[in-house]
Amino acid sequence: MKHCTRENCGEAAVFNSEFCWRHLPDREAYREKLSKLIKENPSLKGANFARADLSNLDFSNTDLSRADMTRANLASCNFFNACLKDAELLGADLSGADLTSANLESADLTRSYLRSARLWHANLQGANLIEANLNQCDLWNARLFNVRLWRTEFSQAISLSKTNFRDPRRKYIVDFGISEKGAHSAEEAYRGLKKYFLANGRYDDASWASFKEKTMERLLLAKKKDPAYIPSLIMNFLCGYGEKPHRIIFASFFVILAFAAAFFLTDAVIYQPSDAYRLSISDYIYYSVITFTTVGYGDFIPQASFTCRAIASCEAFLGTFIIGLFIFTLARKYSAR
Ligand SMILES: [Zn+2]
Repeated sequence: MKHCTRENCGEAAVFNSEFCWRHLPDREAYREKLSKLIKENPSLKGANFARADLSNLDFSNTDLSRADMTRANLASCNFFNACLKDAELLGADLSGADLTSANLESADLTRSYLRSARLWHANLQGANLIEANLNQCDLWNARLFNVRLWRTEFSQAISLSKTNFRDPRRKYIVDFGISEKGAHSAEEAYRGLKKYFLANGRYDDASWASFKEKTMERLLLAKKKDPAYIPSLIMNFLCGYGEKPHRIIFASFFVILAFAAAFFLTDAVIYQPSDAYRLSISDYIYYSVITFTTVGYGDFIPQASFTCRAIASCEAFLGTFIIGLFIFTLARKYSAR
């Protein structure tokens, strides 16, 4: 890396020059020279443009991977199809820039200003968007899987949806997510996404963000060894925090079969009309279903012992709770919010 030739200046020299941006004698001439150079040779790998004013320049199809553009003014620049992989864009001003189809994989966009920028089909996988401003930024079809979000301003972003966060590595299992390295920041980011989706009428996406938020909360509780972890784990298993009704159906089957096994092992059930009747496995399952749903026909009844009645009562309580939860989850998930 070349350093600025000016005395007592320790800063790195900007690309193709002997000075840092601060000591560059003719900035306008440098800008002109640079835009000509890009047209001839669109490879600026690892170039240094720290603090440079490059606004309104055309960088389309240029390779700027690993370039240092810290605090550079890149407002209204054209980065169409440009490669900015691993680029350093900390605090860069990218307002109004066109980043359509740009590759920003693993780029550091911390505190960058992307207001009114266009990021159609841009690849931001693994990029760092901590404290970045994405208001009025158009994210239509931008790939945001594994991005780091913390205090990122996106409440006014355009075209943001769950599909932006799809994991492209998985072909058969569809998965979505942001970087979950820090459970605390991820929890806050998912909460922000939930609010954004609710405000924009995307209830399905909000449901996904809400589930993720609760999952992060559970991870934090586990880390702190908080006893609230246990009810959180149960709610996840039972109904996916009220966002996954199908889990309640599986949980109901599990409870019914578990209690049928308990009734069988403790020989807890008798057939009321005839003493000679020998109960089969299906009778125990049938009795378990009737108790779970609190129907209680009375053809099969529990043995007159404390243990048998206690097991049956437990299942009746669990049944009413789970059925209530199922109705609540269905209403929450499918009614308009
Ligand atoms: Zn200097």
